[in-house]
Amino acid sequence: MVIKPKVRGFICTTAHPDGCREIVREQIEYVKAHKHAQGPKKVLVVGASMGYGLASRITAAYSFGAATVGVIFDKPASGARTASSGWYNTAAFEEFANADGLYAKTVNGDAYSKEIKEQTIRLIKKDIGKVDMVVYSLAAPRRTTADGTMYTSVLKTVGEPYTNKTIDLKNRVVSDITVEPASDEEIQATVKVMGGEDWKDWIDALKAADAIEDNAVTVAYSYIGPDITHPMYADGSIGKAKDHLFETAKQMTAEGGVRAYISVNKALVTQSSAAIPIVPLYISILYKVMKEHNVHEGCIEQMYRLMNEKLYGESVITDSENRIRLDDLEMQDEIQTEVKKLWEEINSDNLDTHADLDGYYKDFYRLFGFEADGIDYEADTDAERSIASIV
Ligand code: NAD
Repeated sequence: MVIKPKVRGFICTTAHPDGCREIVREQIEYVKAHKHAQGPKKVLVVGASMGYGLASRITAAYSFGAATVGVIFDKPASGARTASSGWYNTAAFEEFANADGLYAKTVNGDAYSKEIKEQTIRLIKKDIGKVDMVVYSLAAPRRTTADGTMYTSVLKTVGEPYTNKTIDLKNRVVSDITVEPASDEEIQATVKVMGGEDWKDWIDALKAADAIEDNAVTVAYSYIGPDITHPMYADGSIGKAKDHLFETAKQMTAEGGVRAYISVNKALVTQSSAAIPIVPLYISILYKVMKEHNVHEGCIEQMYRLMNEKLYGESVITDSENRIRLDDLEMQDEIQTEVKKLWEEINSDNLDTHADLDGYYKDFYRLFGFEADGIDYEADTDAERSIASIV
């Protein structure tokens, strides 16, 4: 079929297999072309099909030659529906990894569930024995716990409402939005979904099954950002979940057996960040400023730096609170001063001079395999792609 983007709100309901494959290939080429540290050899990536998790898997495989087990939650094509882009990304990653002689297998299902943890651990024990690194990169709207309770995360403030600018990307209009405070129950649910409980469940399950090396590294991702986004993010309901994630890292390290880290990453267009009010306008201004200063990075550049420079360089490089800071370039004074000035001035009439909306759009479409170089989007293609190893 000929596959075109169908955008509804913050997501695109179609994905292009050849475009996804090309974008995965580009990320692999990026890692291959850069020098490699000595790193882990058997890596589990939870949330491995898109964004930071996919880039982590690619980096581990192509920087260190690591065997990777990925946990994803994606759908194959069915009838007139394309597969999800995470499905196509994973099919492509496995195809390239296998051709390059790298072990790569994938478990598809709800990473929060006990069943998927057990299946994944069985696979690890059977094929690679133990993992020496665990990347936890889930970004999910909800989680069902073992007792059947479903928790839904919210993107709201804590305490007071917050009004600031936001963008209607479809109509290219800047307007004010007021984000309402989350209730206590909503905050607790957000912490359940995006906090550290499930991360620790994974590590505890791996330890109990003797499927993780002693002193293995585990990392999960967080975000801090500038003041304008704080009420919405760092001090908001998602920020409470990220605080919990950080506390969980400290707890896991203190318990022993693993060294757990939080990596504070750069703001980037992903399926998850597109849904946060205020943040997409900030990202489009940030893209413009960082590109002008030649310091813009995407997921693969960030994850390459994380693994080769911050985690597996000569020593682990952290800030005074033991967090890894990949937002170092984003948070530089000269970048933030310019972003702030543009933020104050921006309105619907000057969007083109004050923000990189085209860059934002391009990255958004690329999440779904559109706007890749060299792909003929008018051509017929087969929507059915198989993931060689799928469990
Ligand atoms: P993403 O949406 O691109 O990727 C999330 C991944 O999780 C996808 O592969 C998805 O399929 C998978 N997933 C979701 N629910 C799942 C489930 N139940 N079982 C198995 N897999 C599931 O998101 P992202 O932006 O790469 O986010 C990853 C992490 O990075 C999150 O913790 C996020 O908060 C953090 N982070 C993101 C940004 C940003 O700007 N995008 C910045 C800093 C930190």
